[in-house]
Amino acid sequence: AAGDDGACDAHFVVLGDYVTTEDGTGLVHQSPAFGADDMAICLAYGLPVVNPVRRDGHFADDVRLVGGQFFKHADADLVRELEHRGLLFKHVAYEHSYPHCWRCHTPLLYYALPAWYIRTTAVKEALLRENEKTKWYPDTIKWGRYGDWLRNNVDWSLSRTRYWGTPLPIWRCPGGHLTCVGSLVELGELAGTDLTSLDPHRPYVDDVALPCPDCGAEARRVSEVIDAWYDSGSMPFAQWGYPYVKGSEEEFEAAYPAQFICEAIDQTRGWFYSLMAIGTLLFDESSYENVVCLGLLLAEDGRKMSKHLGNVLAPMPLMDQHGADAVRWFMAASGSPWSARRVGHATLQEIVRKVLLTYWNTVAFQVLYARTNGWNPDQTAPAAAERPVLDRWLLSQLHRVTRDVTAALEVFDTQRVGARLGEFIDDLSNWYVRRSRRRFWDGDPAALATLHETLDALTRLLAPLTPFVTERVWQDLVRSVDPNSAESVHLASWPAYDVGLVDDQLDAGMALTRRLVELGRSARSEAKIRTRQPLGRALIPSAAFAALSEELKAEIAAELNVETIESFAGARDLVDSAAKANFRTLGKRFGDRTPAVASAIAAADAGRLAADLAKQGSATIDCDGRPVEVTPADLVITERPREGWSVVNEHGETVALDLTLTPELTRAGLAREAVRLIQEARKKGGLDVVDRIRLTWSADGATAQALRQHQELVAAEVLAVQVTSQLEPGAGWHANPELGLSFSIEKA
Ligand SMILES: [Zn+2]
Ligand SMILES: [Zn+2]
Repeated sequence: AAGDDGACDAHFVVLGDYVTTEDGTGLVHQSPAFGADDMAICLAYGLPVVNPVRRDGHFADDVRLVGGQFFKHADADLVRELEHRGLLFKHVAYEHSYPHCWRCHTPLLYYALPAWYIRTTAVKEALLRENEKTKWYPDTIKWGRYGDWLRNNVDWSLSRTRYWGTPLPIWRCPGGHLTCVGSLVELGELAGTDLTSLDPHRPYVDDVALPCPDCGAEARRVSEVIDAWYDSGSMPFAQWGYPYVKGSEEEFEAAYPAQFICEAIDQTRGWFYSLMAIGTLLFDESSYENVVCLGLLLAEDGRKMSKHLGNVLAPMPLMDQHGADAVRWFMAASGSPWSARRVGHATLQEIVRKVLLTYWNTVAFQVLYARTNGWNPDQTAPAAAERPVLDRWLLSQLHRVTRDVTAALEVFDTQRVGARLGEFIDDLSNWYVRRSRRRFWDGDPAALATLHETLDALTRLLAPLTPFVTERVWQDLVRSVDPNSAESVHLASWPAYDVGLVDDQLDAGMALTRRLVELGRSARSEAKIRTRQPLGRALIPSAAFAALSEELKAEIAAELNVETIESFAGARDLVDSAAKANFRTLGKRFGDRTPAVASAIAAADAGRLAADLAKQGSATIDCDGRPVEVTPADLVITERPREGWSVVNEHGETVALDLTLTPELTRAGLAREAVRLIQEARKKGGLDVVDRIRLTWSADGATAQALRQHQELVAAEVLAVQVTSQLEPGAGWHANPELGLSFSIEKA
């Protein structure tokens, strides 16, 4: 560098903070023409930029020793020369990474070239302002990874020295005057000829010469093309041909800025930036309001997918195998979209089985029974409030899920959308339809209307996640019976949430009902008594008995196949009760007297306490001669029935089944078994669900008695218009030795 006295320092030290002692010696040679860091340091110290390499990667011919050689092949001559001069300290092969062309594997050379830039640093404050307005999912990216990128903004290196790409629309004359052209019309005006049908790419655009507006000399286009990221960021207006194409201004105004964009996390310096930067530069407003930043997909084993590991799952075969809807559901709903997630066949199979097939089978069920009963949605059904309890409950659940899904979609929480819809489909199939089958067989208009309304709304709620199966269902279930409905589910309006149909008390009651049913099922399986065998009664906790409506108790009785539901309090002679103090609450209320109250609770008649608490919400006990009032929070009551019961207790709730099998109950059980066998025979015989049959049976002993006593029930269940019995079974009859029953059926 030149000093004040005009002399040059031949040797001096320059400093750079990118040089570390971790790699190498901490000493680095500087080649300003071949690296951005080197260039910055050398310019800062006023060192000249020397470049002996031509653009084709060969040394210039006049360079001593290596002139004309490809830069990478010059090493051998240089080493030999140093050795020859006795200047070589040591020569060893040293392994380090080096950039190569990804396509032809040619070694690459960093090379300083003049380039065109967009001065994005001039709008840095505007970019920060636009980012502040933008909603990021997840929020951490906003001022983390992306915010850092904006705060450290550098001018956008726009030009590329390539052939393919959008040509940089700048014409230059020999005098160096620059003319930037904004459209084909403008180019034609400058060139003095109509160029509106010109292909604006190379080589055609390079043929266009124009007289320089400044000096009149011939101007030619510069040779560079534009960075392809610029094209990606121009999408919001370029897709409409804005502002030149007719109608494009309206299209642009209506769509700008976009409500949301979605790409993977690696786009912070790519598309997320190019869209925001170009939008801000041109319109002083980012081109999107929300951005959903997706996490990466991992293989089923949790590792990154790679050809090398052989764990790559290509998307198209996954869709071929499991369906595009299952893959889409996985992407949107199986886990947080912005977390890294594992994808595999097992996950997709589960989505198909648990969600899509359950939904599809429920639709098929409705279609079947609507058809066989000649039902269509025009038929009058009772008002929602007048329908049976299961219908009212389903509509309440439907409006809850509508509310939750709508709210979750508003905040881009597709995981919650999937979770709520999955739960709802499970409730719909495994509780509502399961408990309502009989009403569908009977063609009950309330049931058919309720399920139709529910599937109509559910299909619209599911449509964004599973667009294909829902479209098919829409056409089959809705459009086929209502020509005024939307042409496609994707054109249908979003289901409305009606708070009037949500019934908190009913929902809580049904949840309790289902918990008790679960306990009852466990009690049955512990006692190894199959569900078809009716039992006399089930006992449920006194508090539950008081809380549940008769309709819900009837659901428990029907689902558990028991004749009556009673409370533990109502069956005191059968139950051993015990009461224990809850010291936590007692301590707060009674202080010093807590031990005395606790012993009084233990000494009290627990059965009476339970009954009083269930009935009045409080009970009075005698504590050292003084009456003390206690509430359910003050004590824990355990109720256990005596001999002959199967009892299951979970989370403080108990259900007990009376296992006594009277001859009456045994016969009812035998009749149920017979019904099951005949139903199986119907199915095997290929009968339609509505086909009527003639039944002939032969049995003896208890089974014969059971069939005679329950003939009407059996006939109704198996759709028999005629039931006859005979002493000896005929040839080829269905036979069940365990039951001592033989029978034949024929279509009536
Ligand atoms: Zn190459
Ligand atoms: Zn000029």
